[in-house]
Amino acid sequence: MIALDRASRIVVKVGSALVAGESGADTAWLAAFAADLARFRARGQQVLVVSSGSIALGRRRLGMGRRKLTLPEKQACAAAGQSALMRAWEEALEPHGLAAAQVLITKNDTEIRRRWLNAHATLSTLLSLGVIPVVNENDTVVTEEIRYGDNDRLAARVAQMIGAEVLVLLSDIDGLYTADPRSDPNARHMPRVSHLTPEIEAMAGGANAADGVGTGGMATKIMAARIAQSAGCATIITLGRRPSPLAAIEAGEKATVIEPAVSVQAAYKAWIAGSLASSGSVVVDEGAARALQTGKSLLTAGVKAVKGRFDKGDAVVVLDEAGREIGRGLVRYDSDDAERIRGLKSDGIEAVLGFNYGPMIHADDLALSARTAA
Ligand code: GLU
Repeated sequence: MIALDRASRIVVKVGSALVAGESGADTAWLAAFAADLARFRARGQQVLVVSSGSIALGRRRLGMGRRKLTLPEKQACAAAGQSALMRAWEEALEPHGLAAAQVLITKNDTEIRRRWLNAHATLSTLLSLGVIPVVNENDTVVTEEIRYGDNDRLAARVAQMIGAEVLVLLSDIDGLYTADPRSDPNARHMPRVSHLTPEIEAMAGGANAADGVGTGGMATKIMAARIAQSAGCATIITLGRRPSPLAAIEAGEKATVIEPAVSVQAAYKAWIAGSLASSGSVVVDEGAARALQTGKSLLTAGVKAVKGRFDKGDAVVVLDEAGREIGRGLVRYDSDDAERIRGLKSDGIEAVLGFNYGPMIHADDLALSARTAA
């Protein structure tokens, strides 16, 4: 089984059927699950929860019964249910001395670069403060065309955003099967999947395709696993309806692990290399160009010129003096500040700016171009 206890960042997606009981939030399940999360926190692991349930809880709160809801009704339910959902999470986590933080995001936050950076910074800060971010889609304001609609893919995008090593999708089935186990007695459980082949997708698409309370069936779980896989993140699909589903995974209970295709670091560098919206460039001297090839950070001393306009955190192109692209990286200063400190030794930065964010581009945030990579 995957080494859950060694992952430094974990995302767990909790579906509506788990949190929303018949008469409100399922406090018993949440209490046991909170104890499960507290164990991870006690080991120093960072955990983020993607929780559905706002519409299901809101529907009950507003007395909507079981009838089909229009979009504005769903949005109203989400608004009324989201606060109930957060109260349930707060009450479950509090006895363990854990703070929850509500984060409502929309598809744009995961697709538009500046918003992505913003959400990334907030989530990273919350995680490093030891808080448990409880993320949901901002169903109240998003329109049909631009919503995820299912939290499986949203959770995978969030896992990618924070560089999680493991994404746990708590489901109403204990993993992937070769056919629907409820109708086919020959269906075999798949404990480990390294390639999401079209055959696997087809098999899984049929199994559990229609889910009761939430919106995501097995098909969206496979889509989520595919996103996670290319982000260097393993996906674990297992049964959520047990008191401590994470402990169950660690104890080797039935689950399917979909292995990552690359490392988190390689995926991050590929993401930087592929960032199209690079808004500026820095020209570096020969010594710095050589140092970058050996895996070093770009220090301010090696920067000869700053071109274009960019903000702190933007992807910029790194050029050598002949104008050839050496790589792309996330810059730690905006273009005005970069201009003021270019050529300076690192210990001279603070005297000019009043702060020092370190190198112009840290080696971890730099993707060397293929043709120049050592
Ligand atoms: N965001 C929706 C909610 O909280 C749920 C989406 C899903 O079921 O995946 O109600």
